[in-house]
Amino acid sequence: MPAPDVTYATAAAEKAWADHQILDHFYGHLPPEPRRPPMRELISTVLSHRTTHADEELAYDRMLAAFGDWPGVLAAPTPELAHAIRTTRWPDTQAPRIQEILRRIQAETGGPFDLDFLADWPTSTGMAWLTDMPGIGLKTASLLLLFNYHKPVLPVDTHVHRVAQRVGFLGPKVSVEKAHSVLLALLPPDAETLFNFHKHNYWHGQQICFFLKPNCARCPLKGFCSYYEEHFGEVTAEALAATPAKWDPTAWG
Ligand code: SF4
Repeated sequence: MPAPDVTYATAAAEKAWADHQILDHFYGHLPPEPRRPPMRELISTVLSHRTTHADEELAYDRMLAAFGDWPGVLAAPTPELAHAIRTTRWPDTQAPRIQEILRRIQAETGGPFDLDFLADWPTSTGMAWLTDMPGIGLKTASLLLLFNYHKPVLPVDTHVHRVAQRVGFLGPKVSVEKAHSVLLALLPPDAETLFNFHKHNYWHGQQICFFLKPNCARCPLKGFCSYYEEHFGEVTAEALAATPAKWDPTAWG
């Protein structure tokens, strides 16, 4: 991928771009694609708070099995909706939230439960509308806008946040919430780049840069990682030569 057509404003921007280029090669460049249809992405995220993926899916399926479709979910008695989604962590909080979200979507579209109007809205308008919903934070709004509508925003979760802080292009005191705007400002405003940056740093945090005992020996970022330098000193030619050139889960030990 070509370097962004900008002069790096800061050393942090240069590091963030190096991180992106290296992980893009290491894990492989991906075309931006949605994880799930927009309505499912939005409502499932509300169900997922402090809930396992299996229980979130069960709640989603039971909800639609009980009430049929989104108009049915909106019209359902709230306690019955809470019962249908009882595998989630806080069904009594989430049920009225889901119905409020559905009410707002219906008010916006005049009827259909379809979020595609977000494609035509300016990014900042869509972000403000989504984050004004109960239970929808910056990460969810960013995921929806980037993955489903290819808007130039950056979702930041704990993995992306941890890798960015360890490599050293995000300050140690910057919160996950604040990191959304800080990291976005370091990267080119291009949805495909931001999609790959998110996916690769998320994956890196899950597979190599673990919260406990990061697997630095296998990490292609060690050459400029602040955490590595602090814990192991300057990287040696031997350490670099022993680093795999590409991610290969079958060879991982
Ligand atoms: Fe994480 Fe270690 Fe890689 Fe730095 S060198 S990004 S701490 S795994």
